[in-house]
Amino acid sequence: MIEEKPGRDWTDLRGRLVELAINANIKIKYRSLSAQGYCLRFYDGTQVILVKEDDSIEEQAKTIAHEMGHLAHGHKWDISGPQPEQNEKEANIYGHDLLLILENVPGFVPTELLRAAHG
Ligand SMILES: [Zn+2]
Repeated sequence: MIEEKPGRDWTDLRGRLVELAINANIKIKYRSLSAQGYCLRFYDGTQVILVKEDDSIEEQAKTIAHEMGHLAHGHKWDISGPQPEQNEKEANIYGHDLLLILENVPGFVPTELLRAAHG
């Protein structure tokens, strides 16, 4: 998962991630899950990120950033097993970068990432 940096305001980061997701037409739903999160893309284009509801806000923020990475990269969700290692790597890098951008550039909306999430 994403590397931890002490002193992060995870409540703020999660809020801004959710805002970004909404702008990218991604629905965030908090549910009782066995895993930390899932992302789904339906045939009508609807994108949903499911987040484990009883995780900490920090874990939820990391999960949302990571799952947005899967959607942005267009990774296919396979019910039969976990994502290939390469997909996990790409989602981790995306999530890591997204959190860094949100944290270090207040008010900046990363339109490139939004475009990626749309495509
Ligand atoms: Zn993943």
